[in-house]
Amino acid sequence: MTEQMQAVRAMAAGGPEVLEYGGVAAPAAGPGELLVDVRASGVNFIDTYRRSGVYPMDYPHIVGVEGAGVVAEVGEGVSDLSPGDRVAWHDAPGSYAERAVVRADMAMRVPEGVGFEAAAAIPLQGLTAQYLATGSHRIEAGQTALVHAAAGGVGLLLTQLIRHLGGRVIGTVSTEEKAGLARAAGADEVFLYGKGVDVAQTVLDLTDGRGVDVAYDGVGKDTFDASLRATAVRGSLVLFGGASGQVPPFDIQRLNSGGGLFLSRPSLQWFVRTPEELAERSAMLFDGLENGWLDFRVGRTFSLGEAAEAHRALEGRETTGKVVLVP
Ligand code: NDP
Repeated sequence: MTEQMQAVRAMAAGGPEVLEYGGVAAPAAGPGELLVDVRASGVNFIDTYRRSGVYPMDYPHIVGVEGAGVVAEVGEGVSDLSPGDRVAWHDAPGSYAERAVVRADMAMRVPEGVGFEAAAAIPLQGLTAQYLATGSHRIEAGQTALVHAAAGGVGLLLTQLIRHLGGRVIGTVSTEEKAGLARAAGADEVFLYGKGVDVAQTVLDLTDGRGVDVAYDGVGKDTFDASLRATAVRGSLVLFGGASGQVPPFDIQRLNSGGGLFLSRPSLQWFVRTPEELAERSAMLFDGLENGWLDFRVGRTFSLGEAAEAHRALEGRETTGKVVLVP
Protein backbone atom coordinates (compact mmCIF):
# COMPACT_ATOMS: atom_id res chain seq x y z
CA MET A 1 0.00 0.00 0.00
CA THR A 2 1.32 3.50 -0.83
CA GLU A 3 2.31 5.49 2.22
CA GLN A 4 0.21 8.57 2.91
CA MET A 5 1.31 11.99 4.18
CA GLN A 6 -0.27 15.36 4.86
CA ALA A 7 0.44 18.06 2.30
CA VAL A 8 -0.86 21.38 0.99
CA ARG A 9 -1.97 21.43 -2.63
CA ALA A 10 -3.05 24.27 -4.91
CA MET A 11 -6.13 22.76 -6.52
CA ALA A 12 -6.47 25.45 -9.23
CA ALA A 13 -4.98 28.85 -10.04
CA GLY A 14 -6.39 31.41 -7.61
CA GLY A 15 -6.21 33.07 -4.21
CA PRO A 16 -5.22 31.44 -0.91
CA GLU A 17 -8.60 29.67 -0.83
CA VAL A 18 -7.43 27.23 -3.52
CA LEU A 19 -4.98 25.72 -1.04
CA GLU A 20 -6.17 22.39 0.35
CA TYR A 21 -4.59 20.55 3.27
CA GLY A 22 -5.06 16.79 3.25
CA GLY A 23 -3.70 13.30 2.67
CA VAL A 24 -1.77 12.45 -0.49
CA ALA A 25 0.60 9.66 -1.52
CA ALA A 26 4.09 10.14 -0.09
CA PRO A 27 6.87 10.49 -2.70
CA ALA A 28 9.90 8.22 -3.04
CA ALA A 29 13.54 9.13 -3.61
CA GLY A 30 14.84 8.43 -7.11
CA PRO A 31 18.51 8.20 -8.17
CA GLY A 32 20.53 11.10 -6.76
CA GLU A 33 17.67 12.18 -4.52
CA LEU A 34 16.85 12.29 -0.81
CA LEU A 35 13.52 11.60 0.83
CA VAL A 36 13.35 14.05 3.71
CA ASP A 37 11.13 14.31 6.77
CA VAL A 38 10.22 17.97 6.57
CA ARG A 39 10.49 19.80 9.91
CA ALA A 40 9.85 23.30 8.58
CA SER A 41 8.80 24.60 5.14
CA GLY A 42 9.76 28.08 4.00
CA VAL A 43 6.98 30.33 2.69
CA ASN A 44 8.03 32.48 -0.26
CA PHE A 45 6.49 34.82 -2.78
CA ILE A 46 7.26 32.31 -5.51
CA ASP A 47 4.74 29.96 -3.85
CA THR A 48 2.06 32.62 -4.23
CA TYR A 49 3.02 33.30 -7.87
CA ARG A 50 2.75 29.55 -8.58
CA ARG A 51 -0.49 29.23 -6.65
CA SER A 52 -2.12 32.23 -8.34
CA GLY A 53 -1.07 31.41 -11.89
CA VAL A 54 1.36 34.35 -12.31
CA TYR A 55 3.89 31.59 -13.06
CA PRO A 56 2.38 28.83 -15.24
CA MET A 57 1.86 25.56 -13.31
CA ASP A 58 -0.08 22.30 -13.50
CA TYR A 59 -2.88 21.89 -10.94
CA PRO A 60 -3.22 20.36 -8.50
CA HIS A 61 0.37 20.62 -7.29
CA ILE A 62 1.90 20.42 -3.84
CA VAL A 63 3.02 23.95 -3.02
CA GLY A 64 6.39 25.09 -1.68
CA VAL A 65 10.00 24.75 -2.77
CA GLU A 66 12.02 25.37 0.39
CA GLY A 67 12.51 23.71 3.75
CA ALA A 68 14.64 21.99 6.32
CA GLY A 69 14.43 18.51 7.78
CA VAL A 70 16.02 15.15 8.38
CA VAL A 71 17.04 12.69 5.66
CA ALA A 72 14.77 9.62 5.87
CA GLU A 73 16.03 7.67 2.85
CA VAL A 74 18.66 8.15 0.18
CA GLY A 75 18.22 7.22 -3.48
CA GLU A 76 20.61 5.23 -5.62
CA GLY A 77 24.02 6.82 -6.05
CA VAL A 78 23.85 9.11 -3.03
CA SER A 79 26.97 8.59 -0.96
CA ASP A 80 27.69 11.81 0.89
CA LEU A 81 24.45 12.03 2.87
CA SER A 82 22.72 9.38 4.99
CA PRO A 83 19.50 8.90 6.94
CA GLY A 84 19.51 11.11 10.03
CA ASP A 85 21.48 13.98 8.44
CA ARG A 86 19.99 17.48 8.87
CA VAL A 87 19.58 19.33 5.58
CA ALA A 88 17.96 22.41 4.08
CA TRP A 89 17.04 23.18 0.47
CA HIS A 90 15.78 26.02 -1.73
CA ASP A 91 14.36 24.28 -4.78
CA ALA A 92 12.35 21.13 -4.08
CA PRO A 93 8.81 21.49 -5.49
CA GLY A 94 6.36 19.89 -3.06
CA SER A 95 7.92 21.21 0.15
CA TYR A 96 4.64 22.11 1.95
CA ALA A 97 4.36 18.47 3.04
CA GLU A 98 5.45 16.04 5.71
CA ARG A 99 7.88 14.47 3.25
CA ALA A 100 9.65 15.91 0.25
CA VAL A 101 12.12 14.76 -2.38
CA VAL A 102 15.26 16.87 -2.55
CA ARG A 103 18.17 16.73 -5.02
CA ALA A 104 21.08 15.42 -2.95
CA ASP A 105 23.69 17.56 -4.70
CA MET A 106 21.71 20.72 -3.98
CA ALA A 107 21.00 19.99 -0.30
CA MET A 108 22.76 22.15 2.28
CA ARG A 109 23.97 20.52 5.49
CA VAL A 110 22.53 22.31 8.50
CA PRO A 111 25.15 22.95 11.18
CA GLU A 112 24.45 21.65 14.70
CA GLY A 113 22.99 24.41 16.79
CA VAL A 114 20.87 25.85 13.96
CA GLY A 115 17.21 24.93 14.53
CA PHE A 116 14.96 23.70 11.72
CA GLU A 117 12.84 26.84 11.57
CA ALA A 118 15.91 29.05 11.25
CA ALA A 119 17.39 26.58 8.75
CA ALA A 120 14.25 26.80 6.59
CA ALA A 121 14.70 30.57 6.60
CA ILE A 122 18.17 30.44 5.12
CA PRO A 123 18.13 28.82 1.67
CA LEU A 124 15.88 30.81 -0.62
CA GLN A 125 15.88 34.29 0.86
CA GLY A 126 19.45 33.95 2.16
CA LEU A 127 20.87 32.82 -1.18
CA THR A 128 18.84 35.49 -2.92
CA ALA A 129 20.18 38.26 -0.70
CA GLN A 130 23.69 36.83 -1.19
CA TYR A 131 23.60 36.82 -4.99
CA LEU A 132 21.90 40.23 -5.10
CA ALA A 133 24.72 41.79 -3.05
CA THR A 134 27.58 39.96 -4.76
CA GLY A 135 26.38 38.86 -8.20
CA SER A 136 23.61 40.96 -9.72
CA HIS A 137 25.53 43.99 -8.51
CA ARG A 138 28.73 43.65 -6.50
CA ILE A 139 28.55 45.95 -3.49
CA GLU A 140 31.81 47.84 -2.98
CA ALA A 141 32.68 49.60 0.26
CA GLY A 142 31.25 53.10 0.29
CA GLN A 143 28.43 52.45 -2.19
CA THR A 144 24.86 53.36 -1.38
CA ALA A 145 22.00 50.93 -2.01
CA LEU A 146 18.26 51.39 -1.97
CA VAL A 147 16.45 48.36 -0.51
CA HIS A 148 12.66 48.33 -0.85
CA ALA A 149 10.61 46.35 1.71
CA ALA A 150 13.68 46.37 3.95
CA ALA A 151 11.91 44.56 6.81
CA GLY A 152 10.84 41.65 4.60
CA GLY A 153 12.47 38.26 4.37
CA VAL A 154 14.92 39.18 1.62
CA GLY A 155 15.04 42.81 2.76
CA LEU A 156 16.42 42.20 6.26
CA LEU A 157 19.08 39.81 4.97
CA LEU A 158 20.08 42.00 2.04
CA THR A 159 20.43 44.98 4.36
CA GLN A 160 22.79 43.05 6.64
CA LEU A 161 24.85 41.70 3.72
CA ILE A 162 25.27 45.14 2.15
CA ARG A 163 26.42 46.55 5.48
CA HIS A 164 28.80 43.65 5.94
CA LEU A 165 30.34 44.48 2.53
CA GLY A 166 30.80 48.11 3.56
CA GLY A 167 27.80 49.61 1.78
CA ARG A 168 25.27 52.13 3.02
CA VAL A 169 21.57 51.21 2.98
CA ILE A 170 18.52 53.36 2.42
CA GLY A 171 15.49 51.21 3.22
CA THR A 172 11.79 51.68 2.49
CA VAL A 173 9.02 50.09 4.60
CA SER A 174 5.30 50.61 5.21
CA THR A 175 5.11 50.93 9.01
CA GLU A 176 7.09 52.31 11.96
CA GLU A 177 7.42 48.81 13.39
CA LYS A 178 9.02 47.63 10.15
CA ALA A 179 11.24 50.73 10.15
CA GLY A 180 12.57 49.70 13.57
CA LEU A 181 13.40 46.22 12.31
CA ALA A 182 15.18 47.57 9.22
CA ARG A 183 17.25 49.94 11.38
CA ALA A 184 18.10 47.11 13.75
CA ALA A 185 19.34 45.13 10.72
CA GLY A 186 21.72 48.00 9.98
CA ALA A 187 19.88 50.25 7.51
CA ASP A 188 21.40 53.75 7.74
CA GLU A 189 18.28 55.59 6.59
CA VAL A 190 14.73 54.23 6.57
CA PHE A 191 11.57 55.96 5.43
CA LEU A 192 7.92 55.05 4.95
CA TYR A 193 6.95 54.86 1.27
CA GLY A 194 3.20 55.19 1.71
CA LYS A 195 0.71 57.28 -0.29
CA GLY A 196 1.80 60.83 -1.08
CA VAL A 197 5.52 60.17 -0.53
CA ASP A 198 7.79 61.02 -3.45
CA VAL A 199 10.08 58.03 -3.06
CA ALA A 200 12.59 59.03 -5.74
CA GLN A 201 12.89 62.59 -4.43
CA THR A 202 13.36 61.36 -0.86
CA VAL A 203 16.20 59.10 -1.99
CA LEU A 204 17.77 61.95 -4.02
CA ASP A 205 17.57 64.22 -0.95
CA LEU A 206 19.29 61.54 1.16
CA THR A 207 22.12 61.23 -1.39
CA ASP A 208 22.78 64.95 -2.05
CA GLY A 209 20.95 64.69 -5.37
CA ARG A 210 23.23 61.93 -6.69
CA GLY A 211 21.00 58.88 -6.37
CA VAL A 212 22.00 55.37 -5.32
CA ASP A 213 24.66 53.15 -6.86
CA VAL A 214 22.16 50.30 -6.87
CA ALA A 215 18.41 50.06 -6.32
CA TYR A 216 17.19 46.61 -5.24
CA ASP A 217 13.51 46.40 -6.06
CA GLY A 218 11.43 43.33 -5.15
CA VAL A 219 8.21 45.32 -4.80
CA GLY A 220 7.92 45.85 -8.55
CA LYS A 221 4.89 47.59 -10.02
CA ASP A 222 4.45 50.26 -7.32
CA THR A 223 8.12 51.19 -6.92
CA PHE A 224 9.81 50.53 -10.26
CA ASP A 225 9.42 54.04 -11.61
CA ALA A 226 10.78 55.62 -8.41
CA SER A 227 13.66 53.14 -8.39
CA LEU A 228 14.64 54.22 -11.92
CA ARG A 229 14.55 57.89 -10.95
CA ALA A 230 16.51 57.26 -7.74
CA THR A 231 19.41 55.43 -9.45
CA ALA A 232 22.62 57.40 -9.97
CA VAL A 233 24.31 57.91 -13.34
CA ARG A 234 25.69 54.53 -14.48
CA GLY A 235 24.02 52.90 -11.48
CA SER A 236 22.16 49.59 -11.44
CA LEU A 237 18.52 48.81 -10.99
CA VAL A 238 18.03 45.21 -9.96
CA LEU A 239 14.38 44.26 -10.28
CA PHE A 240 14.05 40.93 -8.49
CA GLY A 241 10.34 40.54 -7.82
CA GLY A 242 6.84 41.92 -7.92
CA ALA A 243 5.30 41.83 -4.44
CA SER A 244 2.95 44.65 -5.53
CA GLY A 245 2.48 43.21 -9.05
CA GLN A 246 4.65 42.59 -12.08
CA VAL A 247 6.23 45.57 -13.85
CA PRO A 248 4.61 46.20 -17.27
CA PRO A 249 6.76 46.69 -20.39
CA PHE A 250 8.55 50.04 -20.40
CA ASP A 251 10.44 52.31 -22.79
CA ILE A 252 14.06 51.13 -22.84
CA GLN A 253 15.20 54.67 -23.74
CA ARG A 254 14.56 55.56 -20.11
CA LEU A 255 17.78 53.75 -19.24
CA ASN A 256 19.58 56.26 -21.42
CA SER A 257 17.83 59.39 -20.18
CA GLY A 258 18.25 58.14 -16.61
CA GLY A 259 22.04 58.19 -16.93
CA GLY A 260 23.13 55.09 -18.83
CA LEU A 261 21.59 52.78 -16.24
CA PHE A 262 22.05 49.02 -15.99
CA LEU A 263 18.83 47.09 -15.55
CA SER A 264 18.65 43.42 -14.66
CA ARG A 265 15.83 41.05 -13.80
CA PRO A 266 17.56 38.11 -12.09
CA SER A 267 16.29 35.08 -10.28
CA LEU A 268 18.00 32.64 -7.95
CA GLN A 269 18.08 29.79 -10.46
CA TRP A 270 20.60 31.71 -12.62
CA PHE A 271 22.93 32.33 -9.67
CA VAL A 272 22.88 28.87 -8.09
CA ARG A 273 23.37 26.65 -11.11
CA THR A 274 25.81 24.10 -9.73
CA PRO A 275 26.58 22.44 -6.39
CA GLU A 276 29.85 24.42 -6.33
CA GLU A 277 28.01 27.71 -6.67
CA LEU A 278 25.59 26.66 -3.95
CA ALA A 279 28.49 25.78 -1.65
CA GLU A 280 30.23 29.08 -2.27
CA ARG A 281 27.14 31.23 -1.71
CA SER A 282 25.89 29.29 1.30
CA ALA A 283 29.37 29.37 2.90
CA MET A 284 29.06 33.14 3.21
CA LEU A 285 25.64 32.80 4.87
CA PHE A 286 26.79 30.17 7.36
CA ASP A 287 29.87 32.27 8.08
CA GLY A 288 27.53 35.13 8.92
CA LEU A 289 25.47 32.92 11.19
CA GLU A 290 28.43 31.37 12.98
CA ASN A 291 30.31 34.64 13.39
CA GLY A 292 27.27 36.61 14.43
CA TRP A 293 27.16 39.22 11.68
CA LEU A 294 24.03 37.76 10.06
CA ASP A 295 20.76 37.26 11.86
CA PHE A 296 17.97 35.17 10.31
CA ARG A 297 14.71 36.40 11.71
CA VAL A 298 11.74 34.00 11.68
CA GLY A 299 8.92 36.51 11.89
CA ARG A 300 6.03 34.08 12.06
CA THR A 301 5.40 30.34 12.27
CA PHE A 302 2.18 28.70 11.08
CA SER A 303 1.18 25.05 11.13
CA LEU A 304 1.20 23.28 7.76
CA GLY A 305 -2.61 23.22 7.79
CA GLU A 306 -2.62 27.03 8.04
CA ALA A 307 -0.78 27.56 4.75
CA ALA A 308 -3.64 29.64 3.32
CA GLU A 309 -3.41 31.97 6.34
CA ALA A 310 0.33 32.25 5.83
CA HIS A 311 -0.18 33.24 2.17
CA ARG A 312 -2.79 35.84 3.18
CA ALA A 313 -0.39 37.32 5.73
CA LEU A 314 2.54 37.42 3.28
CA GLU A 315 0.51 38.95 0.46
CA GLY A 316 -1.25 41.28 2.90
CA ARG A 317 2.09 42.86 4.01
CA GLU A 318 1.54 41.64 7.57
CA THR A 319 4.80 39.72 7.88
CA THR A 320 8.37 40.61 8.74
CA GLY A 321 11.43 38.44 8.20
CA LYS A 322 10.77 34.82 7.34
CA VAL A 323 7.47 32.94 7.43
CA VAL A 324 7.64 29.18 8.02
CA LEU A 325 5.19 26.28 8.25
CA VAL A 326 5.68 23.36 10.60
CA PRO A 327 3.99 19.99 10.10
P1 NDP B 1 8.72 39.94 1.92
O1 NDP B 1 8.89 39.35 3.24
O2 NDP B 1 9.65 41.03 1.48
O3 NDP B 1 7.24 40.42 1.73
C1 NDP B 1 6.91 41.33 0.72
C2 NDP B 1 6.95 42.76 1.22
O4 NDP B 1 6.79 43.60 0.09
C3 NDP B 1 5.79 43.10 2.13
O5 NDP B 1 5.97 42.72 3.49
C4 NDP B 1 5.71 44.58 1.95
O6 NDP B 1 6.61 45.25 2.83
C5 NDP B 1 6.22 44.80 0.52
N1 NDP B 1 5.12 45.22 -0.36
C6 NDP B 1 5.02 46.41 -0.94
N2 NDP B 1 3.89 46.52 -1.64
C7 NDP B 1 3.25 45.35 -1.49
C8 NDP B 1 2.00 44.86 -1.95
N3 NDP B 1 1.19 45.60 -2.73
N4 NDP B 1 1.62 43.62 -1.58
C9 NDP B 1 2.40 42.85 -0.81
N5 NDP B 1 3.61 43.27 -0.35
C10 NDP B 1 4.02 44.51 -0.68
O7 NDP B 1 8.81 38.76 0.84
P2 NDP B 1 10.09 37.98 0.34
O8 NDP B 1 11.28 38.42 1.07
O9 NDP B 1 9.76 36.54 0.34
O10 NDP B 1 10.19 38.42 -1.18
C11 NDP B 1 10.42 39.77 -1.51
C12 NDP B 1 10.47 39.88 -3.02
O11 NDP B 1 11.60 39.18 -3.48
C13 NDP B 1 9.26 39.27 -3.73
O12 NDP B 1 8.92 40.08 -4.82
C14 NDP B 1 9.80 37.95 -4.24
O13 NDP B 1 9.15 37.51 -5.39
C15 NDP B 1 11.22 38.34 -4.55
N6 NDP B 1 12.14 37.22 -4.60
C16 NDP B 1 12.88 37.09 -5.73
C17 NDP B 1 13.80 36.13 -5.86
C18 NDP B 1 14.64 36.11 -7.06
O14 NDP B 1 15.63 35.38 -7.11
N7 NDP B 1 14.34 36.90 -8.05
C19 NDP B 1 13.97 35.10 -4.82
C20 NDP B 1 13.22 35.37 -3.61
C21 NDP B 1 12.31 36.38 -3.53
P3 NDP B 1 6.15 46.71 3.38
O15 NDP B 1 4.91 46.44 4.19
O16 NDP B 1 7.30 47.22 4.16
O17 NDP B 1 5.85 47.51 2.14
